[in-house]
Amino acid sequence: MDPTAETRDQRAQIPSINKLKQAVAGFWTEGGCDDRLLLRLARYLADSLRAEPQTRWSPEWGRRRLQPLLAPGPRPLINATGIMLHTNMGRAPLQAAVVQAALARVQGYTDLELAEDSARRGRRDRHIAGLARLLWGVEDATLVNNAAAAVALALTAVARDRETLVSRGELIEIGGSFRLPDVMTQAGTRLREVGTTNRTRLVDYEQALGDQTGCLFKAHPSNYRVEGFTEETSLADLTELGRRHDVPVIYDLGGGYTEHLAAVVGDEPSIEAALACAPDLLIFSCDKLLGGVQAGLVLGRAEYVDRMRCQTLMRMVRADKLTISILCHQLVHVQRGLPTATALMAAQTIADLERRAAQLVSRLGPLWRVEPDSAYIGGGSLPGQARPSCALVYDGPDKQRLADDLRRAEPGVLATIRGGLLRLNMATVFPEQDAVLAAHLATAP
Ligand SMILES: *Cc1c(COP(=O)(O)O)cnc(C)c1O
Repeated sequence: MDPTAETRDQRAQIPSINKLKQAVAGFWTEGGCDDRLLLRLARYLADSLRAEPQTRWSPEWGRRRLQPLLAPGPRPLINATGIMLHTNMGRAPLQAAVVQAALARVQGYTDLELAEDSARRGRRDRHIAGLARLLWGVEDATLVNNAAAAVALALTAVARDRETLVSRGELIEIGGSFRLPDVMTQAGTRLREVGTTNRTRLVDYEQALGDQTGCLFKAHPSNYRVEGFTEETSLADLTELGRRHDVPVIYDLGGGYTEHLAAVVGDEPSIEAALACAPDLLIFSCDKLLGGVQAGLVLGRAEYVDRMRCQTLMRMVRADKLTISILCHQLVHVQRGLPTATALMAAQTIADLERRAAQLVSRLGPLWRVEPDSAYIGGGSLPGQARPSCALVYDGPDKQRLADDLRRAEPGVLATIRGGLLRLNMATVFPEQDAVLAAHLATAP
């Protein structure tokens, strides 16, 4: 058979555009689909079949090809990495009850940007400000897209065209190209480094203070540790210095957690401990240990929060109604002392994890066993603080293929391959996911 004939045969097997349209329309069990979109998708499938002569049409193949459309957006995963806040996996897991309560209130029209007692235009951050006053007794608060934006906005608002004093030990880089020196440039403030990498004393700040000083900036080194011969100026000393010289102090706390999470994170500085030192602006991320959605919360003195509010940049980094509603609900949830999803995860004892692992492994073949492992909070929080965990370990052929199959399953399972073994860390698998995980693993060798 000559190659052209083969190609023609191949083409004869490609269903007609009308047939493809019908098949695609059937992918939705309800709601129908716009005819022009059906036509576009049918043509796309026909083109794909033509371009891949080895592929035979089947509805399953078509469904897989149209996956981004049939199941739009990020795909749910079972996190078996042992990293609790995984930036690539959307950081903090949310709690369905909190999110549903929040969404129900803002689904339709809301008073998002209406003044409290009138039908006139107001500020969208009044919701979070009112709540922050009740929860923490702060003067004022505002909310933006993330903590990085909050830092940039705060620096612009208080120290543009002037100097920002930062310890050399705190010139941090957070993942995703958030480097403090670059943020300063962006914000139009001049970085003035004080002290050294391992030791910065109050007198270092004091000597650098002058009429060019716009603010004193302190960042919590959340994703690394300087150990050994070190000295750090405390926030309390810094705010006292700022007050004496009438210079505002900004504290970037990073993964802000409240004192209710002390059981999870030990002696990391909490929002409450930071507020007790009275920085003029306190900034933290809301999708780390706080367990909310991506946002940066700013608490502090009314004068400075208000300056932030008036920046042009504010319009570009303002949070939307879903974020505002979810965070208001999450803050109340946490400050009532109710556990976050991450806290529940972290509260599981090693005995709990081992029992679940043993149950799962008992249903698997001889290539599987349970081994001790470590889990981490992650997401740039508490570096090097390993928590005891255990893992289902697969020691057989085709580990990478098994890992790939697990990741492609519905929901996907993210495992790790380390030391030549495939590992499923139990600490980050929710107990209610054990059944689904067992079903996925049942097909493994
Ligand atoms: C995580 C972190 C940030 C960035 O927070 P995002 O909300 O991700 O922008 C900034 N500073 C510190 C110290 C952090 O730990």
